[in-house]
Amino acid sequence: MNRIRADKNRTGRGLKVGKASAETIAPDNANGRAKVEDAVRVIIRHVGEDPDRDGLKRTPARVASAYEFLTSGYSKDPKEAINDALFVEQDYQEMILCKDLDFYSLCEHHLLPFMGKAHVAYLPNRKIVGISKLARLVEIYARRLQVQERLTTQIAQTLMSEIDPLGVAVVLEAEHLCMRMRGVEKQNSYVTTSAMLGAFRTHTETRQEFMQLLRNGKP
Ligand SMILES: [Zn+2]
Repeated sequence: MNRIRADKNRTGRGLKVGKASAETIAPDNANGRAKVEDAVRVIIRHVGEDPDRDGLKRTPARVASAYEFLTSGYSKDPKEAINDALFVEQDYQEMILCKDLDFYSLCEHHLLPFMGKAHVAYLPNRKIVGISKLARLVEIYARRLQVQERLTTQIAQTLMSEIDPLGVAVVLEAEHLCMRMRGVEKQNSYVTTSAMLGAFRTHTETRQEFMQLLRNGKP
């Protein structure tokens, strides 16, 4: 296996860091952090609690830290993560499937968690990517404010553009706390989303093989 050097131009096409789009807003500085803590205090007061009582005193700081972590994907470039571990592999041309990647994300409508499993597959075209990078990619996109549909598509499209494979398939199964704890309160609902690109979209056989591996792929 020969390591492929990260192509600067390709990486350059990636996230436009610092540009104010929903995907790339940079976390604010220390000043911003103080404002977040103040905002949490406002919420605590609004629900009828005293933010200065012992149990709640450090809560605003904890919440600010928690949100920094839960949205840490904004400060990471998913394309760079992939480009770090691309390898040339002429001989392997079969499907690669990584099943049951745990993920935790935040729904952008309620800022409540949704979590579940991601299944990521691709059909290589001379290039393969380090397996752990698939997990990393899911993680970077999940640690943002998301809707499950977009999360699914972003993972698939990034793999498609960076590995240039014959096809990519991504399936996400998740439970949404905004559905379970509030609103319709459907306790046992799961949401499944999928993105099929390239051969997975155009070739029924490839898609079927993927679905078969999804069902029976465990050793
Ligand atoms: Zn929601």
